[in-house]
Amino acid sequence: MANLILILGDQLTTDISALEGADRETDRIVMAEVHNEASYTNHHKKKLVLLFSAMRHFAQQLRDDGWQVHYQQYHPDNKAQSLESVVAAAIRDQGADQVITTECGEWRLHEQISQWQDSLGVPVQIRPDTRFFATKQEFADWAEGRKQLRMEFFYREMRRKTGLLMTPEGKPEGGEWNYDADNRRKWTGKPAAPAPFRVEPDAVTREVMELVDEHFADHFGTTEDFHFAVTPEDAKQALAHFMDFALPCFGDFQDAMSDEEDWLFHSILSPYINCGLLDPSAVCEAAAQAWYAGQAPINAVEGFIRQILGWREFVRGIYWMNMPGYAKENRLGNTRDLPWFYWTGDTKMRCMHKAIDATRRNAYAHHIQRLMVTGNFALLAGVRPEEICDWYLAVYADAYDWVELPNVLGMVMHADGGYLGSKPYAASGKYIQRMSDHCSNCHYKVNKSTEEDACPFNSLYWHFINRHQADFSNNPRMGMMYRNWEKQKPEGREALLKRADYLLANLDTI
Ligand code: FAD
Ligand code: SF4
Repeated sequence: MANLILILGDQLTTDISALEGADRETDRIVMAEVHNEASYTNHHKKKLVLLFSAMRHFAQQLRDDGWQVHYQQYHPDNKAQSLESVVAAAIRDQGADQVITTECGEWRLHEQISQWQDSLGVPVQIRPDTRFFATKQEFADWAEGRKQLRMEFFYREMRRKTGLLMTPEGKPEGGEWNYDADNRRKWTGKPAAPAPFRVEPDAVTREVMELVDEHFADHFGTTEDFHFAVTPEDAKQALAHFMDFALPCFGDFQDAMSDEEDWLFHSILSPYINCGLLDPSAVCEAAAQAWYAGQAPINAVEGFIRQILGWREFVRGIYWMNMPGYAKENRLGNTRDLPWFYWTGDTKMRCMHKAIDATRRNAYAHHIQRLMVTGNFALLAGVRPEEICDWYLAVYADAYDWVELPNVLGMVMHADGGYLGSKPYAASGKYIQRMSDHCSNCHYKVNKSTEEDACPFNSLYWHFINRHQADFSNNPRMGMMYRNWEKQKPEGREALLKRADYLLANLDTI
């Protein structure tokens, strides 16, 4: 029997389930740079370079290992070509009896591939993606019957299941499950943040950069200063770099932001983990070993492992349990368009400018910038979830529907009615001031709320609280905010709402 094995751009590992039991003599692998997939959203140019270059390197690695690989390079004349038509042509060419692939990370494509058996006329075997700690079914079983899903409880299950950071007696190492309370220090320049891991582009990457500059010129961002790893070997070096230079401080400064530093002590590993260049379980193991070896404190190691073993798995479970309806949720009834400055960074709000500018240059911003700056602003301004989700999917090198959507629609926009998080992460400028040095360089004054030069986050925060009274005033975690709002004098409340109304009517000028 001759199998055609389809490997997608985020499945770049020889451990992918589609390759299990495959035969180098009879089977053929197909990979393709398809226009549709590269352009259905305004993907950042660096994301396209990362994926096309990593795919080309992976195809070469497979060939060197003796596999027959049909690799379809991007060609501007093939714009009408779909993934299905590439697979259909490869089946004809090879005379394949069946197609084997690993389940993809996006509902849209999943729906299409699920129909292929009928349209292609050969069996299509879709195998589970074994790169995750929990199967989709395992998550669904855990979630069943629970009124609310909370990451912390799922995370503890995963700790027990994997034994990561667990004592032989089955207790969490260090005595606590979660050290989040120790991970909220502001960064004032010391210790110095390490330079990010860099790989200079090789000939393959340079060729892809030219291709992207020529054919995707209108896409967001820039290819300039591309320095991501594009092979598993280099991604492993990036992991080692993180372990040596950033992990020890990752915990303390996990929530910090800086006017000067784009990367701080973050790992910058999500682009690699999500496309297959790094295995999430090897990443967690390496972090755990750093703790056992005394190279990093428990608040850093636990905090880091929680992001991968907890949050990453949790959001994936939520995505697959709730699609396709989840993508359409808009429980707060938002109607506003995404302000144009999300694409240009052209705003006087220093924190927003810095986060968007870093995103444009790097296809990266760290978690707190995504959550508490660009996300928080979209929440307070009442941007339509669909528009802000599209933005996040486009602009980050690590963005795939299964991970982006729950983070944006659920965690940031609270558009799922609190299914993913118990309360919205809405915050005024005070939070940004506490965690960064942006405010001291800003046109606006963070300690003002109603004046012309007042920080927009302040009045928008109260506008949000006021307009969603019916949604949140009975939420026990929001009671204090509503009591504070009620305590303010009527004229004070009126001035705040007036300032916010002005800002909302003039978003593109602020
Ligand atoms: P680190 O801070 O070093 O964290 C370590 C790892 O933990 C990351 O590499 C990532 O694999 C994982 N992780 C951390 N937080 C999350 C989370 N909330 N969900 C899933 N995995 C997590 N992550 C993506 O991979 N793709 C996305 O499209 C994406 N969109 C996001 C959108 C919003 C609005 C928010 C608030 C978060 C989003 N995240 C997304 C999660 C997180 O911000 C990124 O994973 C992280 O910033 C990647 O940088 P890093 O590798 O330096 O992470
Ligand atoms: Fe952001 Fe407001 Fe601080 Fe300016 S003053 S940086 S807008 S939080």
